[in-house]
Amino acid sequence: MPELKMPANLPDPIINENAKIVLQRRYQRKDTEGVVYETVKEMFWRVASAIAQEEGKYKESSVKPAALAREFYDLMTSYRFLPNSPTLMNAGTDIGQLAACFVLPVADDIEGIFDAVKHAAMIHKSGGGTGFSFSRLRAKDSVVGSTGGVASGPLSFLRIFNCATEQIKQGGTRRGANMGILRVDHPDIMEFIKAKERDGELNNFNLSIGLTEQFMQAVNDRAEYDLVAPNTGKTVGTLNAREVFNILVQKAWESGDPGIVFLDRINRDNPTPSLGEIESTNPCGEQPLLPYEACNLGSINLGKCFAKGKNGKDSEIDWDELKRIIHLSVRFLDNVIDASVYPLDQITEMVGKNRKIGLGVMGWADLLYQLKVPYNSQTAVDLAERVMKYVQAEARSASKQLAKERGEFPTYAESTFGKANLGPYRNATTTTIAPTGTLSIIAGCSSGVEPLFALSFVRNVMDNDKLVETNPFFEAALKEADAYSGKLMEEIAKVGSIRKMDHLPEHLRHVFVTSMDIEPIWHLKMQAAFQKFTDNAVSKTVNLPNSATKEDIWDIYWKAYEYGCKGVTVYRDGSKTSQVLCTGDGD
Ligand code: UDP
Repeated sequence: MPELKMPANLPDPIINENAKIVLQRRYQRKDTEGVVYETVKEMFWRVASAIAQEEGKYKESSVKPAALAREFYDLMTSYRFLPNSPTLMNAGTDIGQLAACFVLPVADDIEGIFDAVKHAAMIHKSGGGTGFSFSRLRAKDSVVGSTGGVASGPLSFLRIFNCATEQIKQGGTRRGANMGILRVDHPDIMEFIKAKERDGELNNFNLSIGLTEQFMQAVNDRAEYDLVAPNTGKTVGTLNAREVFNILVQKAWESGDPGIVFLDRINRDNPTPSLGEIESTNPCGEQPLLPYEACNLGSINLGKCFAKGKNGKDSEIDWDELKRIIHLSVRFLDNVIDASVYPLDQITEMVGKNRKIGLGVMGWADLLYQLKVPYNSQTAVDLAERVMKYVQAEARSASKQLAKERGEFPTYAESTFGKANLGPYRNATTTTIAPTGTLSIIAGCSSGVEPLFALSFVRNVMDNDKLVETNPFFEAALKEADAYSGKLMEEIAKVGSIRKMDHLPEHLRHVFVTSMDIEPIWHLKMQAAFQKFTDNAVSKTVNLPNSATKEDIWDIYWKAYEYGCKGVTVYRDGSKTSQVLCTGDGD
């Protein structure tokens, strides 16, 4: 479709310095010589136009594509909402693949395994991330029927996926990222738990152990549990659940890997169990998907939903504005499904059936700073529930409205929504909280629902560019308290936090907390609060100080289960030299 004509009066977007670098490196279009020929304004218009044009094919739509394109443009360039990176990179281009998240099946035969390697390479090339369950692969040393030889097991194949990713990332739009999951009852589970103990091993993978209710019960009861051969269904051994949990915790303490996902819980929320079981998530864990399913994400910047003095109140959330953004964003994301060209027919088919979207939030810490509510407080946790409950309810209401205009998702009748007569909805899921590694740089806001890492710091963007960044709300508060000075900013940039700066006003030290100032339990409570009202899952890292003990991690893993999270990832300060991804540097 030719691009809609750019209106003559279209305002130029305001772009922060970090965003300029990131956008130029990866998002703005380049010619064959690598020279950027698209301005940021043209980039946002390309995306707005491509996504709005999908509206044209729905006869019942009350919205005209040209007017909608303008609304989308304003929505994105005011940084109230941004779609995931592949949409910004590829909408309206020949690549046309717009989703960030995919899950591919790995079958227990050579052809199936190498099909998955090939399909992952195609997805990585277009900027998407892939998740796999390796649980179907027969255990190491089991017999291979066709050759009489022995199988090499999930781990050795995982290395092939890792290696293929390494090569693709050189030429792709951004670094390919993977999630690898193995069920806790797979016979090779111990080897898998230890797979990343050497630094740099499987560097293109996040690993998670798929825990079952039965296993968690066995941990609680200090009982044994069965290991089951996936190819025969036979029990081939037993392990002590608590010992396995302890080693899992030990490895996570050493390096942050592996994380855990609660498979049964994820499947309890599977809206279409008739289409199969969910066995994996995308790379950062926020999007559980069926095999061959893809999902596009988008994030609302909550920092922009602060209203000072509205309705005579001191400060509050602008709920009406939030509602407007949610409804427009859901329409945007539903159009993205149609605008996207998927790399495989099986994916096109699966996406068409469920039409999942993942609308989430970013800028949460920025909103709390403006509201003067400390992240590590019950007030903040309660507010998180209130905000996400609203986002979920309004996103569902927007999806219902779209179903009226365009029809419900094709598998609605057999879905859990259909059976409970709750809909009809246009989308099988509507909410997901992504890490927003790059989006938050573009929008200049705090990422996802994470606290700020530092109030002021030197950022290494891409290769060698260094930029000093201070949180704007912190800077404003310092100025308001007459405490701002260049020297102070330098001092803060060295340590990130003001917790120990006794000379600063107490009210500032109370509100402007950073991730390392926050007790791990508050990280987890916050994750659980958002999860409660999120259809899919929440990307969140529970940050721990270097001095954290194995018992601390044991406690976090166990509480994540008790609090109803779908999984958890921990990071102990200084425990690993490089992180897999989502640092927002895009490569
Ligand atoms: N992702 C990826 N490679 C990356 C970063 C992200 O494949 O380098 C995928 C992955 O599935 C991740 C999802 O994109 O879970 C969302 O990540 P994030 O929100 O950080 O992406 P952004 O849209 O901000 O670039």
